[in-house]
Amino acid sequence: MAGLGAAYTLRKHDLDVTVFEASPHPGGRIFGEEVDGFHIDIGSNIFLETYGTVAQVAEELGVSLKRTPVPINGGVYHNGRFHAFYGGTRLRDQWKTAKTILSFQLLSPKGVWQALRCLRMLNARSHDLSFDDHSRMLNLDTGESAAEFFESNFGTEFLERLVGPYLSCYTFGHPEQVGVAYAMAVLWHFGLNGAAWPVRPGGKGRGEFMDALVHACDESIRTATPVRRIVLEDGVARGVITEAGFVEADAVICATTATTALKIAPDLPSGISDVLRRVTYSKCCRVFFGVDSSPFPADWYAVNFPRQTGAPMIGMSNSAVLAPESVPEGKALIDALVIDKQAEELFALNDEQAGERVLAEIRKYVPAMSKEPLFIRVYHWDEAVCLVPGGMMTALAQVRRQSLDHVKGLFLAGEYMGVPSTNGALRSGIDAADDCAAFVSRQPDRPF
Ligand SMILES: Cc1cc2nc3c(=O)[nH]c(=O)nc-3n(C[C@H](O)[C@H](O)[C@H](O)COP(=O)(O)OP(=O)(O)OC[C@H]3O[C@@H](n4cnc5c(N)ncnc54)[C@H](O)[C@@H]3O)c2cc1C
Repeated sequence: MAGLGAAYTLRKHDLDVTVFEASPHPGGRIFGEEVDGFHIDIGSNIFLETYGTVAQVAEELGVSLKRTPVPINGGVYHNGRFHAFYGGTRLRDQWKTAKTILSFQLLSPKGVWQALRCLRMLNARSHDLSFDDHSRMLNLDTGESAAEFFESNFGTEFLERLVGPYLSCYTFGHPEQVGVAYAMAVLWHFGLNGAAWPVRPGGKGRGEFMDALVHACDESIRTATPVRRIVLEDGVARGVITEAGFVEADAVICATTATTALKIAPDLPSGISDVLRRVTYSKCCRVFFGVDSSPFPADWYAVNFPRQTGAPMIGMSNSAVLAPESVPEGKALIDALVIDKQAEELFALNDEQAGERVLAEIRKYVPAMSKEPLFIRVYHWDEAVCLVPGGMMTALAQVRRQSLDHVKGLFLAGEYMGVPSTNGALRSGIDAADDCAAFVSRQPDRPF
């Protein structure tokens, strides 16, 4: 998303651009697979209505983003049952959520009070929590983790039963691993801001949005062409080395993960590489089950399991609720999410063993889950989503400013340079391309 956003923007600036993509297909973490008529979004699957950069580019590309049939509804598991939470702004749905809160079965009266205080705080800060421009989030990036911040301000019960599980389902990390600024943005946009309705870009596979973006950059993309090294000479980017040899360039945008950037640009000044080394990613295993019917109410997209339940999966969802066209009529596609250490345990098993183990665990908590799914598919993510540990956002914002001075002609993009999400990745690519175009236009031998 970052690389394509950058290429699309450079082409708008009328610059010659070549995208070297390591994999045989463009799209990075947005891709899917078809299994027996079910379309599985293996990576990213939700765009939100509040993704301003995606909305702007979609409009330019003539792609309409449609609201999903329902918002993000679901339940939190506690004391042997699920407690319903409904998204969206419909009064009927808000009443269902209010009943959960006011029954005091999920949270004690003190926990409810803390939840309301937290909601008020996030509402007051909501204008700072943009997925498009994170400059106003920097003063929230205090170095604290989400666990430290929410526990000290709103108590353990609220952290463990509500904030932690929600956060883990969207970041694939534990609240100790996620910085407070990113945590607030995720909680506001995916959990508490009723207006942040999910949108679908239409179509299957990568969806119409990605297809249109790839199409707009098609002539510039060289797939199956990994960059082995970015060549820096005397603090100036000269080009890249691929299998075919050296390719000279006026400037280079590196739109990979921070880990890959460190590998292919080993000569970065320590002021930049030290910050890139602080960028951490979540690990997860996603296990998909094609089933005849969902074990959850028909309008529930997701459920989550607070870690004290002992369940190895932190969440489950049914993609058919948000995207009915992605499954054969009447069927459901259930996805169980296992993160961190428990994901690593599954990485060590073969897919059949991992799938069977997760299914057995699910049935302990959700007896209505089919004993014999139509199929099981297991996907591993060693680096799923950037966790934005406390202080990282601020350090990277400084890198963006300083790298222009210390390494001329090299620009970094990727979700880690923005607010991790498809929108943040796209934004980072556009911003890097704008910086790059300004740099190139200042070079004396350019015909500008
Ligand atoms: C399972 C999962 C679910 C997610 N769900 C959502 C969601 O619902 N909503 C949301 O907003 N976000 C979601 N995300 C996050 C979102 O997908 C990412 O933040 C975003 O797609 C990252 O884009 P990117 O361009 O920064 O990185 P990537 O998509 O990882 O792109 C980096 C590209 O660099 C290429 N590359 C690597 N090394 C080299 C090399 N040496 N030479 C050339 N090319 C190279 C890779 O092949 C890849 O194409 C999810 C992520 C995962 C993993």
